[in-house]
Amino acid sequence: MRLDTSLEQIKGVGPVASQQFAAAGLHTVGDLITFLPFRHEDYSHVALIDSLEPGKATIKGVVEKVATRQVKRGMRVTTATIADSSGKVQAVWFNQPYRQAQLETHEEFLFSGEFEFRYNRYQLTNSSVEKPKELQAHTGRVLPVYHQIKGLKNQLLRKILREVYPIFEFLPETLPRELVEREGLVSYGEALRAMHFPSGGDDIARARERLAFEELFGLLLASAFNKNEQTKLKSEAINFDAQYIKSVVESLPFKLTNAQRRAAWDIFQDLERDTPMNRLVQGDVGSGKTVVASLAACLARYRGYQSAIMAPTEILASQHAETLAKLLTPFNISVGLLSSRVKGLARKELYAQIETGSVDVVVGTHALIQESVRFKRLGLAVIDEQHRFGVAQRQLLLDKAKFMPHLLALTATPIPRSLALTLYGELDSSIINERPAGRKEIISKIWSPISAKNLYEQVDREFNAGRQGYVICPLIDDNPDNDKKSVEAEYKRLKSTIFTHRSIGLLHGKMKPEEKQEVMEQFSRGEITLLVSTTVVEVGVDVPNATVMIIENADHFGLSQLHQLRGRVGRGVHQSYCYFVLSDSKKPSERLKELERSNDGFYLAEVDLRLRGPGEIYGRMQHGALNLKVATLHDAELIARAQKAAKWFMESTHNVLDYNQLHAAVAKYQRITTLN
Ligand code: ADP
Ligand code: MG
Repeated sequence: MRLDTSLEQIKGVGPVASQQFAAAGLHTVGDLITFLPFRHEDYSHVALIDSLEPGKATIKGVVEKVATRQVKRGMRVTTATIADSSGKVQAVWFNQPYRQAQLETHEEFLFSGEFEFRYNRYQLTNSSVEKPKELQAHTGRVLPVYHQIKGLKNQLLRKILREVYPIFEFLPETLPRELVEREGLVSYGEALRAMHFPSGGDDIARARERLAFEELFGLLLASAFNKNEQTKLKSEAINFDAQYIKSVVESLPFKLTNAQRRAAWDIFQDLERDTPMNRLVQGDVGSGKTVVASLAACLARYRGYQSAIMAPTEILASQHAETLAKLLTPFNISVGLLSSRVKGLARKELYAQIETGSVDVVVGTHALIQESVRFKRLGLAVIDEQHRFGVAQRQLLLDKAKFMPHLLALTATPIPRSLALTLYGELDSSIINERPAGRKEIISKIWSPISAKNLYEQVDREFNAGRQGYVICPLIDDNPDNDKKSVEAEYKRLKSTIFTHRSIGLLHGKMKPEEKQEVMEQFSRGEITLLVSTTVVEVGVDVPNATVMIIENADHFGLSQLHQLRGRVGRGVHQSYCYFVLSDSKKPSERLKELERSNDGFYLAEVDLRLRGPGEIYGRMQHGALNLKVATLHDAELIARAQKAAKWFMESTHNVLDYNQLHAAVAKYQRITTLN
């Protein structure tokens, strides 16, 4: 028997079963032994019948009598009396008529099942039954539980695994031995054996550690290889000029924070290289990432290069264009906005300006790199609020420039370090963990829906002082199947009752882009005092005079989304407030309490990861595609170990091609993690 022996050659695998295995992607012995149980049930303790306690139990006893009867249509019950040296017990199986033939009287068997009180007596229900053997498959041990393969019972899987048991001893090590030893890991074969046939103690934990380590190691090695490959791409160096940048920084309307300086410095150093920058700047909402990016654009322009700045939505793109124009025009840098609003002749003209290089900085949505836009000399691409650049996007960029432009990504969704390493390992990262001076902490309060009146009075006082605010609702229209608040209804209600004396605006995603734009501009200019909106205002919107936000049905939103929303206020010099209004009078959730306590995006990201797990947060696709069987992306300690090991491997003389399984894993992860 070998790893590539096909399953149909194994005793017990008939043509039907082998088809079912194949349908689940299991063709060979190797496939089978790497199909891991997702949990284990402990039936290892063989109890005496008179000491049985309710719950999972194993007994070893002789069958005294057995009978099967039809209780009603479609329901057959098999009952047996089992005896051991301490006493007797009744065992019952529902709709398993084959038990009748299996349970020879006077024979001894092991039974593992649920001991429970049912029909007025204690009984052992639906137990697995097996003759005592050297290697038990179904009873008297810690039982592996496998995800159900269509048509194949766990029972059959365990039986077949027992057939292939000898292979575990001969499995070759898949990682460098040196690494396994140094990390104190169990061997590959031992780990797989323990997953399928645990023999007690901590061997399952040790097996999981070993297999999880191997997965993370492969993932981090893939990142390291990706990073290596990126350094083979050529970019044009954009050399730093201290004098010039100093003059720009000095003429800014504010003093840069230290964190902004550090991030800018990281970027300037990257730009000096003739390999492309590939940097992610993480900074909480309002930490001033845009300014940092525009310093880079300034330097690029100074050295004769154009920059492209991409935002996820049209609203944001036009806001960015405005901000950048304000910042950059004094330095004689021209900023163009490529939005869906620019049409016909104007669009043609803009294209021409980009192509001849008379526009220095072009702002737009991602369409900017997808459309037939031609740059004269693109040196820097900035992507706002998108966590990674995919291979496809890189290719598009390369098509636009002779050399690979330097890439800068900005995100206001901080990623916990452990995740950043595994998911974005090939990106360098800078963190802006400091607020601009003079910014006050936003005061956050969880609010009960019954004291709403009181809340509106407080909000109105802000409006009296000249400030503006937001009301956020989850729905656009009222929906009979959903009792959450809608912006349409709330807008009408507030306009006609509570805030009749105020100018109220409405914003949601079903409005035409031009309408949205118009409303946002009115709000920016202060012509709208209160904006009733869905989460379309989520990212990046910057109206420093807005100081209050009411979030209706706050419990309905996710933690990071609420934090993002809250970041729309607290962007100016005034004290700001955020009210999380609950849907009902139930106790507020843990995440709302954390939000009330903390304003720190990095801390909240860790909390979110703890409360929800990485799959939920970073999308099923990503996590699912990685197809990690054992490792979890929040095991920070193991990730750190694997990271160190990957670094060691890259610097060592080991060749990944000498490790088949590792090589295959790395190749797979490389494909996935560089795809968008
Ligand atoms: P982010 O994109 O990180 O959310 P922005 O770059 O949009 O933040 O900056 C938020 C606001 O703070 C903008 O109005 C910006 O002009 C201002 N700002 C940025 N840096 C500073 C600073 N160092 N001091 C004062 N205000 C700043
Ligand atoms: Mg921003």
